[in-house]
Amino acid sequence: GPGKAPQKPQSLSRKTSPATKEGVTNAPKVLADNSTKDTETLDSDNSIEDDEDKLIASMRGVDPVAAKQILNEIVVHGDEVHWDDIAGLDAAKNSLKETVVYPFLRPDLFSGLREPARGMLLFGPPGTGKTMLARAVATESKSTFFSISASSLTSKYLGESEKLVRALFQLAKRLAPSIIFVDEIDSLLGSRNEGENESSRRIKNEFLVQWSDLTKAAAGRDQGEDLQRVLVLAATNLPWGIDEAARRRFVRRQYIPLPEYDTRKAQIQKLLSHQKHTISEKDLEELIQLTDSFSGSDITALAKDAAMGPLRELGDKLLLTSKNEIRPVCLKDFINSVNYIRPSVSKQGLREFEEWAKLYGSSG
Ligand code: ADP
Repeated sequence: GPGKAPQKPQSLSRKTSPATKEGVTNAPKVLADNSTKDTETLDSDNSIEDDEDKLIASMRGVDPVAAKQILNEIVVHGDEVHWDDIAGLDAAKNSLKETVVYPFLRPDLFSGLREPARGMLLFGPPGTGKTMLARAVATESKSTFFSISASSLTSKYLGESEKLVRALFQLAKRLAPSIIFVDEIDSLLGSRNEGENESSRRIKNEFLVQWSDLTKAAAGRDQGEDLQRVLVLAATNLPWGIDEAARRRFVRRQYIPLPEYDTRKAQIQKLLSHQKHTISEKDLEELIQLTDSFSGSDITALAKDAAMGPLRELGDKLLLTSKNEIRPVCLKDFINSVNYIRPSVSKQGLREFEEWAKLYGSSG
C-alpha cells in the first residue's frame, strides 16, 4: 500500500551538485558549508542530512559508508538533459521510450508479456550521445539516476567495489524508479579470457548476482510494483569486449551510429544558435558535407574551434576590442578548423561497429 511505498527523498536533490560524466562529484560536505548559509538553509540542509542518514540506517545488510558514497557521488542531480537537447537519434529515442520511459511511467500497462526489460545496452562509436541519451531517459522517466563508470568502479574504489555494487542495487530499489547507468560496461563485464584479475572477477560476479536478484525480485509477488522499475542501462564503445553471458542479459542492444545528414544539420544549427554568425543556408549545406563521418562530440569540438576564429585573428588586440566589434563566425572559420579537428572514428572502426550491430544489435 501507499504506506509502504519507498520514499524518494526529493530533498536529497538539493544537496549534491551535478555530477561529472564519471558520476563523481566533489560536492563539499554540507556541514563544512554552513558558515556561509543563512539559518533557513542550514535547517533544511540538516534535515536533508537526516533524511539520508535515516534512509541508510533503515537499509539492512548495506555498508553505510558505501551507501553514503553512492548517494554523494553516484546519484546525479540537476543539470537535466531532455529529449530535445539531443539532435537526431530518433530510432534510439523511440526504443528507449518503449523499453524504459513508458514502462516506468505506466507500470500498470507493462506486465505479463509486456514486462519491461531489466537491461539495455547502448553501443557505438565514442561521442555519439550515449551518455546524453541515458541522462535524458532518467529525466523523462522521472527516475533516480545512478551514474557510474565501470573503470572508476574497478580502480578508484578498489577493495570497496563489491560493497559499493551491493549498496548501489539496494539503493536503486529503494529509490525506484531508478536507472543504473554504467558507462564503459565492457571493462566491468569483459570476457573472461582477457587476463582477468581476481578482484575484477569478484566485482563482475557481484554485479551479475545483484542484477539477477533484481529480476527475481520483480518476478516475486508482494514486492510492490516499484521494484519492477530498476533498469541497468549500459554504454560501450567496445561491444565485442563484453562477455557472452553478460551480453545476453541485455535484452535490447541499441546501436548508436555516427550522426547522419539530418542529425548533423540539427546539431550544427543548435550550436550556431548561441553564436553571432554569417552561415547561410548554402554554407550550412557545405558544413553538413564537411562533417561527414564526424561524431556528435567531433562536431561540438569543431564548432568550438571555429568560434575561436574571429578572436584568434585579433591576437593581443583582442584585449582592447569591445565585444560588439568582434566579427561574426563564418564558413571560412569552419573550413580552417577542419584542418585540425578530425573525425575520431576511422572507416575501418566504423565497419566493426556495423558488423557487430548486424550480429547482435536489436532491430528496430
Ligand atoms: P558518448 O557517451 O556516446 O561517448 P556523449 O553523450 O558523452 O557521448 O556526448 C559527448 C558530447 O558530444 C555531448 O556532451 C554533446 O556535446 C555532443 N553530442 C554527441 N551526440 C550529440 C547529439 N546527438 N546531439 C547533441 N550533442 C551531441
